[in-house]
Amino acid sequence: MLNIVIFGAPGSGKGTQSENLIEKYNLAHISTGDVLRAEKAAGTELGKLADSYMSKGQLIPDELMIDILASVFDQKTKNGDCKGVIFDGFPRTIPQGTALSEMLKERGEKIAAVVSLDVAEEELIDRLISRGQKTGRTDDNYETIKARLDVYYNQTTPLKEMYEKEGILHAIEGIGTIDEIFGRIATVVDKVK
Ligand code: AMP
Repeated sequence: MLNIVIFGAPGSGKGTQSENLIEKYNLAHISTGDVLRAEKAAGTELGKLADSYMSKGQLIPDELMIDILASVFDQKTKNGDCKGVIFDGFPRTIPQGTALSEMLKERGEKIAAVVSLDVAEEELIDRLISRGQKTGRTDDNYETIKARLDVYYNQTTPLKEMYEKEGILHAIEGIGTIDEIFGRIATVVDKVK
């Protein structure tokens, strides 16, 4: 299977580029943020718990997130009709990264590439504020954006070093048109597929 981690700060374009990847390579999409927002919208206990972290820009605890990820992965891949999976918004911590590799190994799978979208902080803030205005997404307000970026720099970026050591990190300039950025991503994916 072609398993890709799409990595980057909030607002770096992970969701947008995931859509392009799904279409071109026939992949399943696992966005942990989307999973949690769907739980919130459905009013489940998990959704309520998740919202208590999401609304503050904090991460949901690792153990919970890892369990959710494994069950969503099994559910999305059970029919065998996708060629691989895009992990969007997971992993976000070193323990999540280790758990993802283990979960895949147990299933005879591995990560083919980690595509890291690099975008400067000012641009990220502009994009997120504008997304909040367009979509009404409640964590896209200035205060929560700042908290999410802090979490990203402190808890998530150490994963880059981990994947760099494993030789699977591919840094992509995340500035330009959606098509230009996707062209850069596709060049990487075509080499590993
Ligand atoms: P996203 O849509 O990926 O930006 O995620 C929105 C929010 O959901 C994050 O700010 C976190 O509160 C939560 N979340 C999503 N994915 C994870 C994850 N892998 N680990 C912990 N929390 C997560």
